[in-house]
Amino acid sequence: MLNAQQKEVVAEKGDGIYRLLTRHGLSISEHTNAFIELNKNLLGKDNTLVSGVKYKLPGAVKNTQAKSNIKTTSFEIFGKKYADVEITGNDLNGAIYYLMAGHGGPDPGAVGKYNNKQLCEDEYAYDVTLRLARKLIQNGATVYMITRDGNDGIRDDSYLPADTDEVCYPKLTIPLNHIRRLRQRTEAVNKLYKKHKGSFQRMIAIHVDSRSRGENIDVFFYHDKRSDTGKRSAKILQKTFQDKYNEHQPGRGYHGTVSTRNLYVVKNTWPVAVYIELGNINHQRDIQRFIITDNRQAVANWLAQGLKIDFKTNK
Ligand SMILES: [Zn+2]
Repeated sequence: MLNAQQKEVVAEKGDGIYRLLTRHGLSISEHTNAFIELNKNLLGKDNTLVSGVKYKLPGAVKNTQAKSNIKTTSFEIFGKKYADVEITGNDLNGAIYYLMAGHGGPDPGAVGKYNNKQLCEDEYAYDVTLRLARKLIQNGATVYMITRDGNDGIRDDSYLPADTDEVCYPKLTIPLNHIRRLRQRTEAVNKLYKKHKGSFQRMIAIHVDSRSRGENIDVFFYHDKRSDTGKRSAKILQKTFQDKYNEHQPGRGYHGTVSTRNLYVVKNTWPVAVYIELGNINHQRDIQRFIITDNRQAVANWLAQGLKIDFKTNK
């Protein structure tokens, strides 16, 4: 308690607890009991106030501090609006994640078109990846954003303009050359992997340039052919999407699959890796999905939920 700095105020004629608290910017639901406790010797019948009497305000204790176990940490990478992250759970305590948003820097990835604007895969993959990172941190995980943009943050806009200032962890310029780019991010992950040796670790790559054709706009999961754990993790994520679609869009049908695929970053990073295709930024129906902020958030939430199950099952 912050008794030393408690503010005292004089009740005016006609004041009740409600009016007094409201006038001083305090919430009735949170502070009424504390106010009565603090001033019990100064209150009239039925907790009325006596005008001219000085009362102590229970303020100064901020809401977040009152709930003593919630820790708030600030991460600039999420942007101003989302920088402060409340660690509200501990389900992922001990889990380490390397989140690799596809492409970035000089490479925009696939480019779609919507209302005469260019939509670049790297920006949309990055936004979902940031949202996932934040969610994992809220649950107690340690997260490394491998592809990083110093000034984008989480963006609530439909149209995410493209830029080329992304870097690779910690802040390496991303080369244009395809294989050098993949090697750079692989090395970044592997260096960190050594540092966390012995911990539960996952590399999650996120893309929006699915190879699937036609009507198929599902979320696909890939793992390395030598990794049984990768396969198990991918299956858990896929099952989570299946359940979520059944819950939120019954009858939609979800046909996202789990399969192996020869992918440089999956093959060459040391942590168990899952590579996720969220859709294809070239398909109009996928564009409709990804320009809606809530959908990007939902995908991130579902992935986080799947990863929680993965951690619980496979740690
Ligand atoms: Zn891609």
